[in-house]
Amino acid sequence: MSLVDIDRNCVWHPFTQERTAPAPLPVVGARGASLFLEDGRELLDLASSWWVNVHGHSHPVIARALARQAETLEHVIFAGFTHAPGVKLAEALIRLLPRPLARVFYSDNGSTAVEVALKMAWQYWRNTGDSGRDLFLAFEGGYHGDTFGAMSVGRTSGYYAPFEELLCQVRHLPFAATWQGDAEVEAREAAALAEIDRVLERSAGRAVCFLAEPLVQGAGGMNICRPEFLRAVCGRMEAHGVPVALDEVMSGFGRTGTMFALEQAGVTPDLVCLSKGLSGGFLPLAATVASSRIYEAFLGEDFHAAFAHGHSFTANPLGCAAGLASLSLFETEGTLRRIAAINAAHGPWLEEVARIPGVTRPRRLGAIAAVTLGGERGDYHAAIGARVRDACLERGLLVRPMGNVVYLMPPACITPDELDRAHRGLAHVLSEFAVG
Ligand code: PMP
Repeated sequence: MSLVDIDRNCVWHPFTQERTAPAPLPVVGARGASLFLEDGRELLDLASSWWVNVHGHSHPVIARALARQAETLEHVIFAGFTHAPGVKLAEALIRLLPRPLARVFYSDNGSTAVEVALKMAWQYWRNTGDSGRDLFLAFEGGYHGDTFGAMSVGRTSGYYAPFEELLCQVRHLPFAATWQGDAEVEAREAAALAEIDRVLERSAGRAVCFLAEPLVQGAGGMNICRPEFLRAVCGRMEAHGVPVALDEVMSGFGRTGTMFALEQAGVTPDLVCLSKGLSGGFLPLAATVASSRIYEAFLGEDFHAAFAHGHSFTANPLGCAAGLASLSLFETEGTLRRIAAINAAHGPWLEEVARIPGVTRPRRLGAIAAVTLGGERGDYHAAIGARVRDACLERGLLVRPMGNVVYLMPPACITPDELDRAHRGLAHVLSEFAVG
């Protein structure tokens, strides 16, 4: 039996309709921006393997750091014990983040980073004597992961219908998306802010926190907003005493052109969620970074005020060692400069594809370029996405449209030639499918 036959007998894949999905492609190796398939084909990974990969696959610097760490200390309980990779990575993250963020709480994935932020904000109010707060605020169309709290704040992403009655109370606020050549952005932002003002007038006293993806909603359809909009929303939260939690799980580690998207908006949140690129995309690792104000509300003489949350693999030394190596590559490889060059190359390409009939809303941010096909709004279930994906695969390109939203998000290591190949191949596919 082939690997795929065995897989089909015993594996259940994520986000997959197992009955109708095509057979999974066996990957035997990866290097730089390329994946190598069992049948000898090579694919350019233009989705950075679910947005985790930063510097390229199997990067030797991260691989060596991991091997060294594995031979020294592979894992140890993080309650009552500590280790150098965990401490050094926490210190490095705090140095990179704005000032009030001062405490790093580790977990394993993006959903848990968000879950921890929601629980911290919830308990913060209980610990400080305001137990009436029961309402989370989030943007419409946001996606934050698949655990219950994360599903609740991401409920309008449309993935969670079977779980509706299990979710917590969330008020969703309008997100003012924009794109190239959008003449109405200011009016859209003003309407969104007026609605947000109304909600805050009525409900700020009930609000636990406002949790949002900064600048770009990933799984919601690569919707991008202006930094001014995010700044205005966060400013209103601050004015009403509502803690801000930013989900940088996808946007962090250079993806949007700066180390963190929050830098572009100049906002200083109370909580930040990190994962995906935190380990350079090598290992599952996450962190929720809290301000001193939040942290101090958990201090006390007995355990009941403490944050009673932890995971077996909290601060896994291998993940932390990979994280430190990944951060060092930002310096030695000029990762942000590489991402700026990718962004510059996306510019003329978007102008070109936006001329194809049926291609709308060209937009870019950092390494991300996206367009919408057909209808103006993103539609995750639009069948055209699978057709674009298959046509790209035939051209050696891994592109994973979200329904009618087609995007590129290559790792920073992609060479100008590879990016040009990706641009030309996808432009060709779009011109074949966009109108139909
Ligand atoms: N937040 C954002 C912004 C994400 O994009 C994702 C994953 N796509 C998550 C949270 C959840 O991360 P994970 O899949 O690692 O649980």
